[in-house]
Amino acid sequence: MRGVAGYLVNHLDGLHGDGGQAYDYILAANGLFVRAEKLGLGGVPLLRATVRVAEAQVRGLAPIQERLELPQGKASELCWHSFLAVAAQQASNEVYGAVCWRDGAYHMVTPEQEAGGAHVEYQAVADTVVDMHSHGYMGAWFSTTDNQDDAGFRISIVVGRMDMLVWEVEARVTVYGYTGKVYVGDIFG
Ligand SMILES: [Zn+2]
Repeated sequence: MRGVAGYLVNHLDGLHGDGGQAYDYILAANGLFVRAEKLGLGGVPLLRATVRVAEAQVRGLAPIQERLELPQGKASELCWHSFLAVAAQQASNEVYGAVCWRDGAYHMVTPEQEAGGAHVEYQAVADTVVDMHSHGYMGAWFSTTDNQDDAGFRISIVVGRMDMLVWEVEARVTVYGYTGKVYVGDIFG
C-alpha cells in the first residue's frame, strides 16, 4: 500500500522509487525536495509544485529545480484586482478571497466569513487554487495562524498596510509544511 509520502531519487537516468498518495520527497544532486500535485473535481490538475526542503550536494545524481506550475494556466489579473478591490473596501478588517477553478474557468470568490481587524474565519471553497487574505492595516507577513491554515498544499497571498498608498504583498506556495517563494506575476497574468 502506498504511504502518504513517497520517496524518490533523481538518478541521471530519471526518477526512481515509490510515489506517495499526497506528495513525494525527491533526493537530487542539489538537495532534498518535496513535490506535489493537486487534482480538482473530475481529476483536473490544478496545481503542481516542487519546493526545496534542504540544500545539499549529493554526488552521482541529477539536479532538479524549484517549480510552480498552474496546469490550467495563470488566473486572470481581474481575479487579483477584484480581490484587492474587496479588501480595500473593508480596509480596517481582514478579508478572505479564493481563486477557484469551476466550470472550466477561474473565479474569484469571497465566501461567507467572520472577520475583524486581526482575524478572519471562512468557509473553505472547493477547488481553490489560490488563497488570498488581507491583514487590514497590519503588515503582510504569514502569521502563526496562517501557517496553521496553510498545512496542506496551496498557494497563498497576504496583503497588508491597506492604510498606505502602496500595499504590502507576500506570496508563497506551501507543500505540506514546506514553503517556497512565489510572485504574484507567477499566478496572475
Ligand atoms: Zn494572515
